[in-house]
Amino acid sequence: MRRLSITLTIVLISVLFNSVPSLAETAKRDYGIIKNQNSPHSKLSSVDLRAVRWTEGFWAERFAQTCDVTLPRLWELASDPEKGHAIQNLRIAAGIEKGQFKGTHWQDAWVYKWLESACYVYSVTADRGLDAQMDEIIDVIAMAQRPDGYIASQTIARNWLRFQVPNHHELYTMGHLITAACIHHRVTDKTTLLNVARKAADYIYETFKGRDPKLADFPRNPSIIMAAVELYRTTGEKKYLDLANFFIDWRGSRYGKGRRNEWGTLTGGSDLNQNWRPLRKETEVVGHAVFFTYLYAGAADAYMESGDTTLLDALQRLWTDLVDKKMYITGGVSPIHKAHPVRSFQPGHLSAIVGDSIHEGAGAPYELPNDTAYNETCGQIGNLMWNWRMLAITGEARFADIMERNIFNSILSGIEVDGDDWSYTNPLRWHGPEHILWSNDSHKRFDPGQRHICCPTNLLRTVASRHNYLYSISKKGLWIHHYGGNVFDGKLADGRKIKLTQKTNYPWDGRVCITVDAVESVDPFSILLRIPGWAKSSNLKINHKPTDIFRYEPSSYAIIERKWAAGDVIELNLPMPVRMITADPRVEQTRNQVAVMRGPVVYCLESVDVPQGIRFEDICLGANTKWKVQHEPDLLGGVTVLKTKAIVIDKTTAKDIGGYREINNIKPSRVDITMIPYYAWNNRQEPKMTVWLPVRW
Ligand SMILES: [Zn+2]
Repeated sequence: MRRLSITLTIVLISVLFNSVPSLAETAKRDYGIIKNQNSPHSKLSSVDLRAVRWTEGFWAERFAQTCDVTLPRLWELASDPEKGHAIQNLRIAAGIEKGQFKGTHWQDAWVYKWLESACYVYSVTADRGLDAQMDEIIDVIAMAQRPDGYIASQTIARNWLRFQVPNHHELYTMGHLITAACIHHRVTDKTTLLNVARKAADYIYETFKGRDPKLADFPRNPSIIMAAVELYRTTGEKKYLDLANFFIDWRGSRYGKGRRNEWGTLTGGSDLNQNWRPLRKETEVVGHAVFFTYLYAGAADAYMESGDTTLLDALQRLWTDLVDKKMYITGGVSPIHKAHPVRSFQPGHLSAIVGDSIHEGAGAPYELPNDTAYNETCGQIGNLMWNWRMLAITGEARFADIMERNIFNSILSGIEVDGDDWSYTNPLRWHGPEHILWSNDSHKRFDPGQRHICCPTNLLRTVASRHNYLYSISKKGLWIHHYGGNVFDGKLADGRKIKLTQKTNYPWDGRVCITVDAVESVDPFSILLRIPGWAKSSNLKINHKPTDIFRYEPSSYAIIERKWAAGDVIELNLPMPVRMITADPRVEQTRNQVAVMRGPVVYCLESVDVPQGIRFEDICLGANTKWKVQHEPDLLGGVTVLKTKAIVIDKTTAKDIGGYREINNIKPSRVDITMIPYYAWNNRQEPKMTVWLPVRW
């Protein structure tokens, strides 16, 4: 009790006297998830977190589910000492209660990502109860922080030494603390968590500024880079930007000092942690998917502030390597659970070496297995965050295209349609209940005590903040990147107010109607509409009149410059035919197979949607398959399904040896199948599933 009151006094003193002088300007608000209004090398700026409200349709329903189901459920689990342990760990570290630390080394990040998500919800709902709930846990966090600024319950509650093992993830959890604190300040104007974050960042700065070689492998997960840039943007203190740049340069800084011999044998840095060579010299995407996406996203943040083109060049090169050679059709970015992927020895060099042991990461070029695809949900979330920053830097639609591919497919697949259970891996083929993906991990079902804790709150913050990824502003005008029923009530870059309403049933229907409700201007400006890469024959009407004066190629922005007035109507039509897609022929696992897409949505076939008596694996599609598109409001939370008559290869076979059979006679016949969106798979027990289907040309 005595310790509690002493700590409380310290907390009160720090709250009262740790003033943050450079924050006065933040009262103007207008800040999004990333506060890049003043970033000199960002072409686009975020809009305010409160500027967009979902009104109807796909995302309005998911946002409501996030508020009503997912956010409270993840708090309940985090608070349960027998399940989530996360709150209890912090309370033990704070000296409020006695007990043993439980869970993973990164359990604290659960609480910080929950807080960040709660801030996004609060920015829309202004729910006082949620605000008070946040204050309560922030008090505990402040008490858990050591007087010198260090905070990590995984070591404090166990009396472990600091920074001994990279996998203790102290910088990772503190990185998420700092990010949550920036957002908390942004939506509440409070400095309680921000003060904790500044103290933590100051401590990290002091600890690492001496460049102690013993710390060369820290951080493992580099969430601290994005966090430090955001803290710089929030406080204006240059030291935090220096800290971010330090960690970018520090990673892989020992390359060239004999840490790898001519045979590629590892003696130091690793592919896994992207620290074999510095980021600026890297030619291939390697290693853990969450680490590389967070590293690249952090480097993109740093570029927006510094304009260091050596960083941007590396990011462009790595983006092309990932998207062309190492990404699934669903946007999945970590094909490999455990392996030693082959990587080229030098740029342009023909010989290849076996890289060092990696897990949960990128494989060799075109190595995209379906039934062992790891695709941890957090990797795709990291990819979305990286692409959002690349979009801000360049204004190029291809980055928004990847974000859309990720969110509608390999991110949403990580949460059940009911919103209260999660998966860690996102494979593209499933053989049924007997299919065990790696070391007895069952595919779905969230186990809060295990390493799977990272994905649920990462999904939570992504869905809760989705509305802030729809629009940007620039000197040109208002950019609309993504579609969904919403109202935008915000400002242009020069401060003029504009309000507009988007009506659409996207992603099930490609018609989007945008009405200008009010605009504070007579001067012309542009509204820029993203034409997705998949939209091959889009058309546009302004005030009900067809127009062809604007450029609307796929994967570009249609730029409409005019004197906008209240009542103006834009009708964008993005036709959504069902598309059959093949992969690069070098992807061995998808040879002679097709995936089916409609709009941004990848479809899959589950064995429950195949008539009984038909072997699931014998189903194939004809080259000229005709589809019936049908919306099913009561199925899987409401989905548009694709129905067709598929071909079934009825074979008579004779045993050859082992699992091999000799085919004696083939009689193709037709069978009715229904394909569902991939993100909704595994919600009806655990049927077989496949994204890729053989094609009969
Ligand atoms: Zn995860």
